[in-house]
Amino acid sequence: MTRGSLCKVAFVWSDHFEEFDNGRNHPVRQGRFRAVRDYIVSQGFYEHDNVSEMSPEPLPESLLERVHTQEYITRIRRISATGEGDVDIDTPGYRGIYETALWTCGGTISGVKAILRGEIDHFISPTGGFHHAFPDRGGGFCVFNDIAAAVRLLQDRGIKRVAIVDLDVHHGNGTQSYFLESPDVLHISLHEDPEWTYPHSGRVEESGTGKGSGLSVNVPLPMDSGDDVFLYSFREIVPPILDFFRPQFLILVPGFDTHYLDPLAHLVTTTRTTRETTLMLHDQAHKHCDGRLGVVSGGGYDRQALSWGVATVLSVLSGIPYSAPPESPPIQDDSETWELARRTVRAVRARVFSQLGL
Ligand SMILES: [Zn+2]
Ligand SMILES: [Zn+2]
Repeated sequence: MTRGSLCKVAFVWSDHFEEFDNGRNHPVRQGRFRAVRDYIVSQGFYEHDNVSEMSPEPLPESLLERVHTQEYITRIRRISATGEGDVDIDTPGYRGIYETALWTCGGTISGVKAILRGEIDHFISPTGGFHHAFPDRGGGFCVFNDIAAAVRLLQDRGIKRVAIVDLDVHHGNGTQSYFLESPDVLHISLHEDPEWTYPHSGRVEESGTGKGSGLSVNVPLPMDSGDDVFLYSFREIVPPILDFFRPQFLILVPGFDTHYLDPLAHLVTTTRTTRETTLMLHDQAHKHCDGRLGVVSGGGYDRQALSWGVATVLSVLSGIPYSAPPESPPIQDDSETWELARRTVRAVRARVFSQLGL
């Protein structure tokens, strides 16, 4: 029996998640989240007692005000009321955007609360993971930062050390900005080399300041990295730092846009990366956090790859068997990719491990 089969997992779902309107040509189109939910149902996950569907509440405004400036909240409310203006060039405004953002972020918060009440061990919030939102601005398809809000809630409830592991192909720049100086929040982001990809940050040298030194960890992966290079980089960096930090709650952003089918970036992983990283983090959550692990999807702009990825995570956490259909990435890791990745891993270990005294 695998560990997962003992765990209670909730998939967070609300019809409100689909009430957004980014227009017809945006990577986040209507139906994207529902397609994932339909796939979960079609694969029979809900036929098992340890998997349930959870209805969320919207993000409480009291928590919203803890993570965003009043000026920015007012700006989003104004866009929402009039339908005029955009959040940023990639993030269109529309009528009702404020309420929709509260719902899509609320999925994460409701999942965290259910874990703290002891009702579930893990949750998956398919709309969560708005890691490009800063206190005073949104961007990159993100309006409000649900991850930062989750951390504030956890701190209010007496959870001191929180670790965020962000495997989305894009750097978690907004989330990182909240915690650069914090000794209590570990933020690890593996992403494509910022040279080639939005938001063009997340270099090894960004590793936290003051009491947060060494607790912002950035692992920029070479373009064309596949499963072997991704998993090598993950194994060399993530477990040792988690063992050192000993989080009491773990937040995972699997970010299904590293997949080779994804149209937005240039990594070529498969669901093997999702499976193996989730397995390792699931073990870490049971080792350090009494199992407390929340998953917020992040990106993923190919519907098939996104659905396979979410099902893979759910399979690992619940112990219910699932395999994606056969996948065939267009290229394999070559010697140049390996060399660049090894160099990055050495640089991260040299900088961060010494800052932490590891
Ligand atoms: Zn578990
Ligand atoms: Zn992304």
